[in-house]
Amino acid sequence: MKVLVIGGGAREHALCRSLSQDPAVTELHCAPGNAGIAQVATVHPVDQLDGAQVAALARRLDAGLVVVGPEAPLVAGVADAVRAAGVPVFGPSARAARLEGSKAFAKDVMAAAGVPTARSYVCTTVEEAAEALDAFGAPYVVKDDGLAAGKGVVVTSDREAALAHAASCERVVIEEYLDGPEVSLFAITDGTTVVPLQPAQDFKRALDGDEGPNTGGMGAYSPLPWAPEGLVEEVLETVLQPTVDELRRRGTEFSGLLYAGLALTSRGTRVIEFNARFGDPETQVVLARLRTPLAAVLHASATGTLDQLEPLRWDEGAAVTVVVASEGYPAAPRTGDPIEGLAEAEAADGTAYVLHAGTRAGEDGEVLSAGGRVLSVTATGADLAEARTRAYDALGRIGLKGGQHRTDIALKAAGR
Ligand code: AMP
Repeated sequence: MKVLVIGGGAREHALCRSLSQDPAVTELHCAPGNAGIAQVATVHPVDQLDGAQVAALARRLDAGLVVVGPEAPLVAGVADAVRAAGVPVFGPSARAARLEGSKAFAKDVMAAAGVPTARSYVCTTVEEAAEALDAFGAPYVVKDDGLAAGKGVVVTSDREAALAHAASCERVVIEEYLDGPEVSLFAITDGTTVVPLQPAQDFKRALDGDEGPNTGGMGAYSPLPWAPEGLVEEVLETVLQPTVDELRRRGTEFSGLLYAGLALTSRGTRVIEFNARFGDPETQVVLARLRTPLAAVLHASATGTLDQLEPLRWDEGAAVTVVVASEGYPAAPRTGDPIEGLAEAEAADGTAYVLHAGTRAGEDGEVLSAGGRVLSVTATGADLAEARTRAYDALGRIGLKGGQHRTDIALKAAGR
């Protein structure tokens, strides 16, 4: 099978790495890719938001499967364009991707499907927002209704700040605060059958101890030794399957990856958000543990044959990924700096490796930083403590001027 992956972050590098290790994959392409992806796939300079360009590339390459990584191309209808060109595609239609693209749409689907989530109001004026804030009380949760790459959400006890964020958005969802630990659970679906993956936890705040601003994600780990037994089955039954069924009932069948961001609150499991694609950086640790070759799984989603798939096989061990971000991330990331020590960081036995996010090749073949999140240093081990040690050892060999990372990824979970 020839496979084309769309995107250019560490999530896509993780997807490409797994696909490149799958014997069923005869050719691997990625557009636009990055400096790391270029080591395992042929990269193509294509505008990933342009469905016609992506579909034309897929046809030209004679791809048997296109995998769309990020949310923006999905919301822009890239999967629709590829599907219309007759190429199997992993990723939902633009209409179904509104589950991520519009918080209000997601709330409506959840209400209809009886999926447990935070109570919420959709507000378009400052007056409405003020009323909603006062109805719930502090801490306040204010979400931009549109796509914001995980950065459109403000959680604060400062009423003025909450109101200011609401005023800066056209339409906001204001909701009750959910206490309790967060879990990311991914599922592969073809619109009918739902196959959950292993749960992971990510770290959204920029600084140790969950301080600082929200980011796209600074690290992740899997499995979650502290998670209640039966969590995956419960979420499949109460969240994932009803949501997929409700979307199909509405004529907006959802195929691809359904990502449930969950809070395990004192009153039970609640959905914080849905995403319509693999999460970054959780994908890096979930795929590190997946033993089933990836291409057939994604292809079964794209062709509506997930019910025929063998049960997924998983590594019993653990995986940890730590994001290296550039100086100034997330507000004003500095780019163009050389990255040293990439080869030295990789373990010969494959237990530690570096996934590239915002990188590009310089003129002399050196690797330069080219984005806010630059690398995802990933490691596996018998348990979280071992995976964690390996990830931080590898990270310690990498040099990036002004580079920043959290030092507490998986720390608590590894100690429990
Ligand atoms: P989202 O983009 O909806 O995932 O929100 C980003 C982050 O904000 C989440 O991972 C949570 O840490 C936090 N958050 C979102 N909604 C809530 C909520 N209702 N209660 C508490 N924290 C929330």
